[in-house]
Amino acid sequence: MNQSERFSDTDLCVKCGLCLPHCPTYSKTLDENESPRGRIALIQGWAQGSLEATPELTRHIDNCLLCRSCEAVCPAYVPYGHLVDRFRSETGEAGKTASTRLKSAGIRRALTNKRASHWVEQLVGKSGALSQGLLRKTGLLRAFGLAEFEAGLPDTSTSLRWNDFYPAQGKNERDGIALFLGCTANLLDAETVASALLVLNRLGVGVRVPHTQACCGALHYHAGDQAPAHALMKRNLAAFDLPDVDTVVTIASGCGAMLRDYPQLESTAPDFAASVKDVSQFLAELSWANEVEFKPLPAKVCVHTPCTLKNVLRAERYGADLLRRIPSLEVAPLPSGQRCCGAAGSYMLEHPEMAQDLRNDVLERVAAVNPDFLATSNPGCALHLRAGLKKKGMGRVEVLHPVTLLARQLIQ
Ligand code: SF4
Ligand code: SF4
Repeated sequence: MNQSERFSDTDLCVKCGLCLPHCPTYSKTLDENESPRGRIALIQGWAQGSLEATPELTRHIDNCLLCRSCEAVCPAYVPYGHLVDRFRSETGEAGKTASTRLKSAGIRRALTNKRASHWVEQLVGKSGALSQGLLRKTGLLRAFGLAEFEAGLPDTSTSLRWNDFYPAQGKNERDGIALFLGCTANLLDAETVASALLVLNRLGVGVRVPHTQACCGALHYHAGDQAPAHALMKRNLAAFDLPDVDTVVTIASGCGAMLRDYPQLESTAPDFAASVKDVSQFLAELSWANEVEFKPLPAKVCVHTPCTLKNVLRAERYGADLLRRIPSLEVAPLPSGQRCCGAAGSYMLEHPEMAQDLRNDVLERVAAVNPDFLATSNPGCALHLRAGLKKKGMGRVEVLHPVTLLARQLIQ
């Protein structure tokens, strides 16, 4: 198959422009090259040999957040996300500066390389709050230009050590569940992991936590780094290929979206996508025993919807549905028109100006609601939004996963 044939999906685009108002980068720049239609045309031109993959061209593709909002509204079903992934994989990192390449490779390595993540674990999670304090005091992250990352770390005192199995409390209602941890939640927000386990167990669900699981591979894959991405996919497919497991529950919508894509990327995973479910959807669809109750919480929570939850997992309503189970808690939607918050994996580090501009739009909407909590189902979005709230003097708004709030209010 030649280059033009490999990118023949670009021909599906009928140039209708329906995706343009949904694209965050187009809305900010009003530049056709920064729109889905424009990017598809650039990839098409390159694939057909009429355009070179110059730094200028790759910069436009690289500026894409891969939020896939365009894909969700496209009447021609252009597989936009896969086109961009393939383009990045075939052209390398030509449009990125050396410091950007180093920074994003460093983040990928710290989160996904076993030895490097061991050291992150030692610094961040082993003794919880103490080591996070150490990480902050040493200025290690700031020295690597990751001050935003540091500002977005949650305050946690939860251990990172997980058992292989967490049995159901009381009557066993559901078997066959395994939890996908995700490297960001596991290393940087262990409270979400502990909360998901607690709520699942309390609802009568025994949970396996396969210890050989790894990073989902999204950071590598979307950066065009194919070989390590496929190695991670294979490792996870083997880790979750357990005879008694039929559902893989995810607590990070970014990881869930990547796992859902495994069958299209890795031929050994034909049935895997159907087994992947976001934790909020899984919990909302369970039948709840009457004795599961929550302490009232007289407060207001705003629900943020990560792009991966909305555009790929199509599970945006479940977080709010679950939170409405907490008595006295006011669940307020973000005022309409919410776009990508700018986190988008490592995008927030590689494109800080656009990421912060987009985040400001979300935070303006949060400020209008003035909540006590901001609930989001993706730890990357949580990190980015938490840093932004602190910067704007709104640090009193606690950013957490919906299951964390559920777990805190659960009557044991
Ligand atoms: S909505 Fe689809 S077909 Fe229309 S311009 Fe956008 S990508 Fe092309
Ligand atoms: S994925 Fe998001 S940022 Fe990229 S072109 Fe589509 S809508 Fe725009």
